[in-house]
Amino acid sequence: MTTPPFDPPTAEDVRIVSLQLGRPARDVIGIAARCVCGAPTVVSTSPRLADGTPFPTLYYLSHPAATAAVSTLEANGVMVELAALLEGETADAYSAAHEAYLADREGIEHVPEIHGVSAGGMPTRVKCLHALVGHSLAAGPGVNPIGDLALERAAWSPTVCECPDYSDSGYSDSGHEGSTGAEASGDAVPNE
Ligand SMILES: [Zn+2]
Repeated sequence: MTTPPFDPPTAEDVRIVSLQLGRPARDVIGIAARCVCGAPTVVSTSPRLADGTPFPTLYYLSHPAATAAVSTLEANGVMVELAALLEGETADAYSAAHEAYLADREGIEHVPEIHGVSAGGMPTRVKCLHALVGHSLAAGPGVNPIGDLALERAAWSPTVCECPDYSDSGYSDSGHEGSTGAEASGDAVPNE
């Protein structure tokens, strides 16, 4: 789990996120959570894209198995169940999670167009479990109560690797074809 400031993503991180998203990942500023194998699970994107577009979703769940598991929760009506919990202390904690999300993003860049806008329906609604689980994975347990509960309910865990083989697929910018895959084994450490 990682909140700002982030270590810069490696080229390998960006390559894997691009494979996960099915398109070239742009404006990646860090990897906020990783699978036990080291592959990115939550990608952090610049609050203002290179083309100038404001981008409120600081934490985006990119891992295919995680995304699928959370989609299953949404399809099964879990958002309505979790929204019903937004009373008393849980509502207060969810509001605090909204403020924590904004503080993380403000620490990177102030973007006036998205001032006060977080993600996932915070602070009073539950609209996207992917965004809320992404926040929980980045911030760690105890920050986002709804994200934490959704993660508990999901048929995916950050502690069990379900990653596909990313080693010999596309989006390489440096000719990985024919490599053994060892250099893509997920232990990449940002350069000091
Ligand atoms: Zn993995």
